[in-house]
Amino acid sequence: MDLYTEGDPIADTKAPDGPVETRWERRRFEAKLVNPANRRKLTVIVVGTGLAGGSAAATLAEQGYHVKSYCYQDSPRRAHSIAAQGGINAAKNYRNDGDSVHRLFYDTVKGGDFRSRESNVHRLAEVSVNIIDQCVAQGVPFAREYGGLLDTRSFGGAQVQRTFYARGQTGQQLLLGAYQALERQIGLGNVEMNARHEMLELVVVDGRARGIVVRDLVTGEITTEMADAVVLASGGYGNVFYLSTNAKGCNVTASWRAHRKGAYFANPCYTQIHPTCIPVSGDHQSKLTLMSESLRNDGRVWVPKAKGDNRAPRDIPEDDRDYYLERIYPSFGNLVPRDIASRAAKNVCDEGRGVGPTGLGVYLDFADAIKRLGRKAIEAKYGNLFEMYERITGEDPYEVPMRIYPAVHYTMGGLWVDYDLQSSIPGLFVIGEANFSDHGANRLGASALMQGLADGYFVLPNTLPNYLANAGSFGKVDASHPEAVAARAAVEERLQKLLSINGDRTVDSFHRELGQIMWEHCGMERSEAGLRKAIDEIRDLREQFWQRVRVPGDGEGLNQSLEKAGRVADFFELAELMCIDALHREESCGGHFRAEHQTPDGEAQRDDDRFAYVAAWEYTGTGQPVLHKEDLQFEYVHPTQRSYK
Ligand SMILES: Cc1cc2nc3c(=O)[nH]c(=O)nc-3n(C[C@H](O)[C@H](O)[C@H](O)COP(=O)(O)OP(=O)(O)OC[C@H]3O[C@@H](n4cnc5c(N)ncnc54)[C@H](O)[C@@H]3O)c2cc1C
Repeated sequence: MDLYTEGDPIADTKAPDGPVETRWERRRFEAKLVNPANRRKLTVIVVGTGLAGGSAAATLAEQGYHVKSYCYQDSPRRAHSIAAQGGINAAKNYRNDGDSVHRLFYDTVKGGDFRSRESNVHRLAEVSVNIIDQCVAQGVPFAREYGGLLDTRSFGGAQVQRTFYARGQTGQQLLLGAYQALERQIGLGNVEMNARHEMLELVVVDGRARGIVVRDLVTGEITTEMADAVVLASGGYGNVFYLSTNAKGCNVTASWRAHRKGAYFANPCYTQIHPTCIPVSGDHQSKLTLMSESLRNDGRVWVPKAKGDNRAPRDIPEDDRDYYLERIYPSFGNLVPRDIASRAAKNVCDEGRGVGPTGLGVYLDFADAIKRLGRKAIEAKYGNLFEMYERITGEDPYEVPMRIYPAVHYTMGGLWVDYDLQSSIPGLFVIGEANFSDHGANRLGASALMQGLADGYFVLPNTLPNYLANAGSFGKVDASHPEAVAARAAVEERLQKLLSINGDRTVDSFHRELGQIMWEHCGMERSEAGLRKAIDEIRDLREQFWQRVRVPGDGEGLNQSLEKAGRVADFFELAELMCIDALHREESCGGHFRAEHQTPDGEAQRDDDRFAYVAAWEYTGTGQPVLHKEDLQFEYVHPTQRSYK
């Protein structure tokens, strides 16, 4: 392909071999340790205070390292993780329903459509049980059932009930737990907290990550912060689509700046489109709202059997309804994984059977569950979600079915990391949604919180010390080092450039247009022609951005247009790489659905012979990225055509 070149293959040299269930234990034992007395002499920067960054910063400080923590919100506890609703998976098997570490491992590898690493996923499943213990010890108020045990519910892609939850506010409660642990360390002076600070550049010295350049978002002051290692926990990049369920502030800047400095970006095209979101209602919208997947435990998804049937839902008799997920996928029914449920919704809407004013909607109906369990039980489980739905749509979901439609929700792609969670730049570690992670081409519901907390509480605190144990050999550097000075100068120059264009279009207008291109051509369904068109359109629009964007104000204080402009500029570059990645992957897998590659009944058609690899992209600055392939091996869960029928 004319758009990229192929480089040497890449390997995960840290991954141990041997029986999969012993690998993590062996890696931990083999890792070098740092003497407690030496830990306080070592500084670690952690960018991000969501579940991944908050738990990592607290745990590293608890171990005795000096931690500098950064977030752009006014408080670490406002990180986007707070939005997570439905729950967190763990292989506790409290239900005695056949769950096990191996089953969670199996479900996750299969759910990811065989595009993740077995070693990583097994470790994730092992650690999942520790997360629940850790959080309960912190006082996280998980829901309990009558006997006092922690309650669980089902999420997509699993036939067991392994999802722990705190009503519809699981992320918030977990984040409060991590935040309290962080606050304890802030109080003890081990964590230096820098809220309202945005990382705008990575400092690399002698090939190692040694610091970051940050802007104080309130005063505009730019500083260079140095450390012995840098951890990025900066979240996902779903907002490249403009409309998504992510918090408005979510962006790719921290990861993208590191990518430009040499960190490979893996599988950027793997995007998760969540099937249960409130449909788009018009051009005025700047955000989409998720209705948690947990609702599919009790809600039944349907559309009218006939095209154009616009009777009110309660006037459509049972015989005229198509409970299409239950019909097509009788084994998993309404709890098929997200990629499958999203595509099925798109298909029925494409057939003209969609509901609501735009025809881009399907019903999620609780009438049966209310009849069976009573309104009180439904209120207890989902009350806050029902209330949120009613506030946004003006419709009462206890009385009429919810209307839902797929929306961009999560990004499985991210910076490439090895088994130790280290990127291709030594000393730069990446955790949580920001790394390309353990979810392959499709993440199962309730697995992001599991992965973020696994990385932060358990994995990184065991692997980072192995790197820091050698810190003595690479010495201290300070902000006067020429690389640090150059990084800071680059930040200042870029901000100045954005402020000086003084054009005639707002940042948001560019972002919205970019999002439309991405949704149309790199969204739920992709094709070669569409992706090529998108790349041309993105390039044109990016050129216009740098000539016509208008950023009012100056850089001397709070300037949200300036913040957004920098983030959108990075989204433009990422968007192009996403399309190149989607174009080169001539197969369908998980959330990456290429129209040219589908089975006769419309399911994703993988090509394991050609594409069973992680695509790790290197930035070259020439517009032509270099592709490094990391082959995936499957010894335990053998790739098959995924079936949920
Ligand atoms: C509406 C919604 C509901 C969800 N529900 C669930 C669920 O029920 N279960 C589940 O498993 N998953 C769920 N998810 C996914 C899950 O919430 C996220 O994947 C996860 O919380 C990401 O955590 P994180 O710590 O990696 O990043 P985030 O929580 O996004 O935190 C990112 C942090 O990085 C900081 N940051 C970013 N860039 C910079 C920068 N340049 N400089 C300084 N700081 C920076 C931010 O300030 C923030 O502190 C949901 C997602 C959404 C959108």
